[in-house]
Amino acid sequence: MTRPLTLLLSLALVACAQFPTASNSVEQERLRAHIEFLASDALRGRAAGTHGYDAAAEYVAAEYRKLGLKPGGEGDSYFQQVPLREHSLVEGSASAVIETASGRTALKYPQDFIMGPDRHRTAATVEAGLVFVGYGIVAPRFDHDDYAGLDVKGKIAVFLSGRPEAWPTEEGAHLASSTEKARHAVERGAVGVLMLHTPREEAVFSWDKSVRYLGRPGMGWVGRDGLPNNYFPEIQGAATLNLDAAGILFEGAPVSIEEVFRRDSEQGLIEGFALPNRIALARKSSYRELSSPNVIGVIEGSDPVLKDEVIVYSAHLDHLGVIPNAEGVEEIYNGAMDNAAGIATLLETARVLEADRPRRSVMILAVTAEEKGLLGAGYFANHPTVPIDRIVANINLDMPMLTYPFADVVAFGAEHSTLRGFVDSAAARAGIKLSPDPMPEQGLFVRSDHYELVKKGVPAVFLMTGFESRDPNQSGAEIWQAHLRQHYHQPSDDLNLPIDYQAARVFTEININIGREIGNSPERPLWNHGDFFGEVFGGPVAPAP
Ligand SMILES: [Zn+2]
Repeated sequence: MTRPLTLLLSLALVACAQFPTASNSVEQERLRAHIEFLASDALRGRAAGTHGYDAAAEYVAAEYRKLGLKPGGEGDSYFQQVPLREHSLVEGSASAVIETASGRTALKYPQDFIMGPDRHRTAATVEAGLVFVGYGIVAPRFDHDDYAGLDVKGKIAVFLSGRPEAWPTEEGAHLASSTEKARHAVERGAVGVLMLHTPREEAVFSWDKSVRYLGRPGMGWVGRDGLPNNYFPEIQGAATLNLDAAGILFEGAPVSIEEVFRRDSEQGLIEGFALPNRIALARKSSYRELSSPNVIGVIEGSDPVLKDEVIVYSAHLDHLGVIPNAEGVEEIYNGAMDNAAGIATLLETARVLEADRPRRSVMILAVTAEEKGLLGAGYFANHPTVPIDRIVANINLDMPMLTYPFADVVAFGAEHSTLRGFVDSAAARAGIKLSPDPMPEQGLFVRSDHYELVKKGVPAVFLMTGFESRDPNQSGAEIWQAHLRQHYHQPSDDLNLPIDYQAARVFTEININIGREIGNSPERPLWNHGDFFGEVFGGPVAPAP
């Protein structure tokens, strides 16, 4: 006896419904499983260099293995070990003495001056003359050279914190970074740098607030050349001076410090000059060496030629770990949104793209030590496991807010390159609107892992859920603001948040769509013609329109 065909069909349908197999579409329960494991207390907050982080890294590697990703780390493994160095200033060792016509003044730490550790030498001292160099910035694009006509060879360069106020946020953030300022000073022969805290900065980030961060050790990565990242051995001493100390430093100067501060606040012209005084700086530093892995898998492209080009998806796997509260009780910082949510998105993206490969290859990069200053990403960008010029784009995932049914997304960085077009169609296909950056003053494009690849010329985009909600009773803007106020970098960024896995699915789909659009396009992404980042960091630039 044979079964009627209709019965067979209905049995098959039942079977499908009861035993879903791995599909090409994003599955909410998989996203939930990743977030619930990664944000569990068992991982103790995933701080780089701890067992909790290592367990999270093993989990990600096991997922790559299960999905069939190729090892993209070192020596046919999924891991790229990042050598890290934790550094601290030895208590009581910081000293700064100014010598002027009226005598010597020993500044008080941390009321008058603060300094960080030397990240490579256990003891460092310098004594030299001083040259005031405005903001210490050289920016041909803005026709600005604070060193014009000044000689800082063998001297200590003295500059104001910040930059001219009128410059755009993202470009300004790069130009005013302490690394850029140190680089300009070193290239001109300076042996030390002094930064002046200003009344304009005091209004935004007070001296007292900076002092509160002082006790915590810093961390950096150590390159194959044995030097810490962004380290300049030529700089023998560095410090930041408070307002009164700057007054002593400017004794006998051709322009008073009050006048310099006034011009800084009123956007007046600030020109440099040699100061008639000297300063002696000294410090002792201590170190702890450790290492922590990036976890890297590769989906090979389906096109025999285009597979040599690689799209990198990145997300940081680390968070803040365990920190004692004011009463001395240890609290776990689980980082559910920051960034278990990003890693869950990354893993589900890998699964879906592996099942239906784009023409270009895709690298799945879980990075360590983002919370310590983008260290895993920085190490990867400087020691990439594929040649850097084969990386055509970076899609970064960091703290997607998955607690509301978002109706729009913001694509940081998209306006700098042809990635804008790819993002537009990816969002449209998911039925989600693309909104402009609602908080441009935050300069978010230069504040997450993708920026390390941008600095190597790679166009990048970083999606955030927008300020609109599909729920008329909610405001995305309010949810964001409340999160930043109450949960961001707090123990309460945990599984008690009302995580909306439907929203998580949509967010993942958009990110997958972006990779597909880039992965299957005949053209690789290009920096827009005349764009600041393309110009400063190199990389492929679109022809003039
Ligand atoms: Zn964070």
